Amino acid sequence: MKDCVFCSILEGAIPSERFYEDERFIVIKDIEPKANLHYLAIPKKHYKLLSEMTASERDDLGYIMSAISQIAPKLGLGGGYRLVINQGDDAGQTVFHLHIHILGGQKMDFPRL
Ligand code: AMP
Ligand code: ZN
Repeated sequence: MKDCVFCSILEGAIPSERFYEDERFIVIKDIEPKANLHYLAIPKKHYKLLSEMTASERDDLGYIMSAISQIAPKLGLGGGYRLVINQGDDAGQTVFHLHIHILGGQKMDFPRL
């Protein structure tokens, strides 16, 4: 997708360290971390919003969440982590290529959910 920062990262046009990669998604570090450890899980397919995904594409999301749970200890998140998906302006979404924030490396007491 043209003018999409995450598509540019996936294509290698913007360099980034990949902490994990398989056929469906990559994991990179967030450039402006909001926790001691802040990764982004980015699907290789460009979806703007959850509401755009078809039934078969939704399968990608379940796969990615499950894979995150498997690789979490290798990312230094053995003590736990929080997953966040911002959707739309009210949530503060800034990059409209669906992604999952993976936050941890500390007690996640801000805010208390
Ligand atoms: P969101 O606000 O949910 O759309 O999240 C977008 C996230 O992408 C923000 O936390 C940004 O800090 C992060 N971000 C933007 N550009 C880059 C980049 N080039 N590399 C890594 N993270 C980025
Ligand atoms: Zn994209």
